[in-house]
Amino acid sequence: MRVLTCLFGEHNLALVALAAILCIIGSFVSVQLFLRTINARGGSRFHWCFLASVCAGASIWATHFIAMLGYQPGVRVTFDATLTIVSAVIAIAGVGTGLMLSSLRNRWLAALCGGGTIGLAISAMHYVGMFAYRADGIVTWLPGYVAASLACAVVFGAVAIDRLRAHDGDRHPWLPTAFLVLAIVMLHFVGMAAFTVAPIAGFGSGPQSEVFVAMASAIAMAALLIVGTGLSTYLVEMRTRTDAQDRLHHIAMHDTLTGLHNRHSFNSELRRKSHRLSKGGPPFALIMIDLDRFKPVNDTLGHPYGDRVLKAVASRLRKAVREHDMVARIGGDEFAVLADGASDPIVVGHLAERIVEVLSRPFVIGGQSAEIGASVGITLTSDGAVDADALIQQVDVALYHAKEEGRGRHSFFDPSLTQKLLERRRLEADLRRACIREEFEVFFQPVLDTQSREFIGAEALVRWRSAERGMVSPAVFIPIAEELGLVNTIGGMVLDRACHEAASWPDHLMVAVNVSPVQMMGGRLATDIAQVLHRTGLAPHRLEIEITETALVADDELALRSLEEVRALGVKISLDDFGTGYSSLSYLHRFPIDRIKIDGSFVNKLPTDAGSASIVRAIAQLGASLNMQVTAEGIETDDQYSFVAEQGCGHMQGFLFNKPIDAKSAAKLFASGSSGRFAA
Ligand code: C2E
Ligand code: MG
Ligand code: MG
Repeated sequence: MRVLTCLFGEHNLALVALAAILCIIGSFVSVQLFLRTINARGGSRFHWCFLASVCAGASIWATHFIAMLGYQPGVRVTFDATLTIVSAVIAIAGVGTGLMLSSLRNRWLAALCGGGTIGLAISAMHYVGMFAYRADGIVTWLPGYVAASLACAVVFGAVAIDRLRAHDGDRHPWLPTAFLVLAIVMLHFVGMAAFTVAPIAGFGSGPQSEVFVAMASAIAMAALLIVGTGLSTYLVEMRTRTDAQDRLHHIAMHDTLTGLHNRHSFNSELRRKSHRLSKGGPPFALIMIDLDRFKPVNDTLGHPYGDRVLKAVASRLRKAVREHDMVARIGGDEFAVLADGASDPIVVGHLAERIVEVLSRPFVIGGQSAEIGASVGITLTSDGAVDADALIQQVDVALYHAKEEGRGRHSFFDPSLTQKLLERRRLEADLRRACIREEFEVFFQPVLDTQSREFIGAEALVRWRSAERGMVSPAVFIPIAEELGLVNTIGGMVLDRACHEAASWPDHLMVAVNVSPVQMMGGRLATDIAQVLHRTGLAPHRLEIEITETALVADDELALRSLEEVRALGVKISLDDFGTGYSSLSYLHRFPIDRIKIDGSFVNKLPTDAGSASIVRAIAQLGASLNMQVTAEGIETDDQYSFVAEQGCGHMQGFLFNKPIDAKSAAKLFASGSSGRFAA
């Protein structure tokens, strides 16, 4: 009660209001600086502590002084300058000490010691300030109020620090602010209630209020300047910190090369969207893009060029999708798009077509042109799958299917595709094991002279005898071995065994070995062949390698170099499966080719199919005019034999004469010197 009568009856309320405003602003800024001090490490804690204590001490002292100027005891009042200054120093030093204690590891101890010290500092400042207050009257102190004021300051100070430490400070800075304001205000006004002045008769009560208002305004101004400086420093530091955090966040979430989102960012967005979907949020489409033929571009034109292509891919992708769709680079040449709200397969299909189309256009960079392409897998969430991991698996399956179907296309996820993918993964694992366990054998299919029907040699054909799967066709496992990088191992083994076997055959017989484009582009083909010939003792002219046009298309410079090296050893080169690929006549001119093999798919339609007949005729004539040997493959009937013989194909092979046979049988067959259709 006495507190209220003192406040409303004995104070200039305008100055009280000014003190209150200063107290609230000062406390709010001080709490921000307190937080920074407590959270700072090492030397910077002292700098923050200094700033916080000056700011808090100045605003507390100014609040007290202005409120005191607002006190109207009805007598003349003067101030002791020294004690007034001492009271300001106490406020600053006391808050500083309290703040350092507030950083103690134990939160309760920190609140008690740190907050308590701040409360005591406020009290000490107030009462020293009161001793500086010289009133011309009889001053009496009411000890009860003094004790109560001290208790208020210590308790509210401790609670303020406790709230600050309870991690609420960051989110609710007003809570510790409110307690700090309470500590200052309660101390002051309960303290003022303890102080009474009775005028002494004969002493004048000069009109001082105007002077006091001027003084109060000046002090408020100075205090606000100090508080403002503290606030500015805090804000500048906050801004710098936020900028740095934003930059770090950007780096952590983006791919440095393309500027697209990275895998981490993509995964968290996918998880967020899946979670929202499970709570009834909008559907979306997950699109995965894998570049076709990027590796050869990277390998032949160099990594810096590859990087520029990837950047161009990113920019084309960004333009192909809608503005709010998320585009991410999630692997070397793998990209992903999250298309929000997309649930209509027709719309998403169009988007995928657009992506395939823009990426299939040539990339012309720095005068060089690179042609890549893209395979796209899609999964839609409208059919209920919401788990992010499940979605990734589905889109993988869809992408794999698009690649299987011949690349440069898109494919939607379909549950039946999963089974196919699982089977493929099992096959891959089995094939890897087969390489370690050496489960491969080499069979030989004799090649005959068309006119004399004498053997001229044999083609080596690899076989995989798998314990679990039985005999697996090379047409099935060679393409997988190429993708898994196993074909060099398998091819090396076939070359070695084929040469080893052929060395034991009669001298006039040759052996033909199929060579994968991957082996040819590896840059070691001629060296490997030379070593095998040396090891097995086979004369180079008895070896032929069979290549396909795919190898020539991939990189003709590299192919040409590789083939010329092989040719220089004295080994012959044969172009296999002629007619099924690009069949460009320019290859026959540019590359050192000794033999053309007409693919079995034409031969087996002979002689009835007019188209196949004219192709076989044309190839036979082409061979004759270019001075190349021609072999017809896959002869199964007498009619087919007669037709190719008439066209002048010099050599032939097919089930009509011999199926591929194992090495032992081939050695026996050739040693017997027999030939003709019933030899095997
Ligand atoms: P290719 O080089 O064109 O081999 C000829 C294929 O036709 C062989 O199949 C052979 O068994 C089959 N064939 C031969 N005569 C007839 C016939 O009268 N009728 C029918 N229907 N087929 C006949 P295979 O052994 O299954 O090999 C398939 C393909 O696998 C080969 O085609 C070749 O491209 C590849 N390949 C085989 N062995 C190797 C190897 O050691 N390395 C590499 N890189 N590829 C190989
Ligand atoms: Mg072949
Ligand atoms: Mg062939």
